[in-house]
Amino acid sequence: MAAGPDVVTEALVDIHRRLGALDEGEPAAYIPELARARREGFGLALVSMDGHRYQAGDAAEPFTLQSVSKPFVYALALAELGLDEVGRWVGAEPSGEAFNAISLEEGTGRPSNAMINAGAIATTALVPGATPAERFERILAGLSAFAGRRLDVDAAVHASEAATGDRNRALAYLMRGAGSLACDPLTATDLYFRQCAVRATVGDLAVMAATLGNGGVNPVTGERVIGERVAVQVLSVMATCGMYDASGEWLLRVGLPAKSGVSGGLIAVSPARFGAACWSPPLDRTGNPVRGTAALRELSERFGLHLMLSP
Ligand code: GLU
Repeated sequence: MAAGPDVVTEALVDIHRRLGALDEGEPAAYIPELARARREGFGLALVSMDGHRYQAGDAAEPFTLQSVSKPFVYALALAELGLDEVGRWVGAEPSGEAFNAISLEEGTGRPSNAMINAGAIATTALVPGATPAERFERILAGLSAFAGRRLDVDAAVHASEAATGDRNRALAYLMRGAGSLACDPLTATDLYFRQCAVRATVGDLAVMAATLGNGGVNPVTGERVIGERVAVQVLSVMATCGMYDASGEWLLRVGLPAKSGVSGGLIAVSPARFGAACWSPPLDRTGNPVRGTAALRELSERFGLHLMLSP
């Protein structure tokens, strides 16, 4: 982006002010604790490749990552095992089905991709460690390295999902039966529920997104979190599968690799330029945040960020 700091901040403040009036959609309620979200909460943040931070609105209010954790845990598994081994357990095709669909690829028994629940649970099951606590520490340390600060778990959201997450447990058992889950189903789902309940701000999310866009080096801390090849692999799957059933429409209109989550978080990456994040709990019918989708669409149009545009 050729814009200087003031132009970027001005754009974020302007988009935040106008889209604050967009009062559509509903916060997710199937995890009871998420239904308590402040529907008017709305934050925007952007981090450039030189580590400069821009923000507007509720940029310091924490919320849980939910599905926004998926690309980062996929990155950790890829960094640990490589694409060929991870690809034995989870595919890289858009599913064309709901994020929590009870379905696996015919023949292989794999989930279609790591951005839907089945694929994310299969991915989490690949993160190594001698005990579940060690494995979770590896996940939390990895997510924290992406964010550039130590993150923590929202215990109430974790308990709420653990108490109601039978569909995800069913998916884990289905995969175990099909030979596509690398560990015991209850361990895999509990690790997955914990990773979804990791708490971060929209400012953290923008740093995490920027790290993917910066070839795996956190632009704020300077730490190499993953290799460049892994960052490219993760961005590719985000581009085709990151926005639930609206991934095709998103690529068409916004043109950036992205991932949304049911708590209203959303990240988008403009490779070698910046990481962007938005938080606003009300979701549309596809499960994507209403204000976040509109905000990223505006940013992309305003600064000409669509991936298919020539530089
Ligand atoms: N923890 C949520 C679930 O598994 C994450 C879903 C999402 O954000 O898409 O249902």
